[in-house]
Amino acid sequence: MDEIGIAAKNCGRSPEAVRLVVVTKGQPAQKINQVIEAGAQLLGENYPEETKTKIPEITGKVDWHMIGHLQSRKIKYVTDYFSMIHSIDRLEIAEKLNEHLALVGKSMDALFEVNLSGEESKSGFPAWNEGSWDKLTDDLIQMSGLSHLNFIGLMTMPPFSKNPEDSRSVFKNCRHLLELLQQRSGNPAFAELSMGTSLDYHVAIQEGATFIRIGTAIMGERVYR
Ligand SMILES: *Cc1c(COP(=O)(O)O)cnc(C)c1O
Repeated sequence: MDEIGIAAKNCGRSPEAVRLVVVTKGQPAQKINQVIEAGAQLLGENYPEETKTKIPEITGKVDWHMIGHLQSRKIKYVTDYFSMIHSIDRLEIAEKLNEHLALVGKSMDALFEVNLSGEESKSGFPAWNEGSWDKLTDDLIQMSGLSHLNFIGLMTMPPFSKNPEDSRSVFKNCRHLLELLQQRSGNPAFAELSMGTSLDYHVAIQEGATFIRIGTAIMGERVYR
């Protein structure tokens, strides 16, 4: 985890400006408890039902962040267990999640997930064509009016590559899109960029990430169910 602070300093950023989300999907509770003991405070999960079954075995206080594509029928688990969602990828899920939050009397921090590569397997609001950004930011600004979701920025996931430099243009574009969102909304609350995983977090930090989401580099290989 010290490596994150070093990566931040190396590009002139404060280590506190980059928060680590340890991605624990596919990891047993015992290993998760070890990283909590080692100081992890934010844990990221993709499958809310998996999180629900693990939580009783987790010792120590942590915040759970939802980072995976959310299906409507899983909303209840998200409002029960998670404090933030990085993966709002369509209007329908934003509205339904907001409705359920209102029902249970909670609010949640949220990020818009954007697809900047055009890769079809990726979720996220389509954003690979810069010509669409004015319209896209208008839509996102309107969505950010939802009463129980507190939208604070963007999340993205570049196409898989073993070469971290391949992710740079996607990260750079994500920052540019955030800047446009700030400008057009006049809202400084749009300040967070969730980007960078085990392979490319150094590059993400250089390009302005405020959350990095690291699984295997910290936890080791996942046990797939
Ligand atoms: C699994 C996952 C990660 C972590 O990936 P690693 O390669 O294990 O670091 C980060 N973000 C999302 C959205 C993921 O699904």
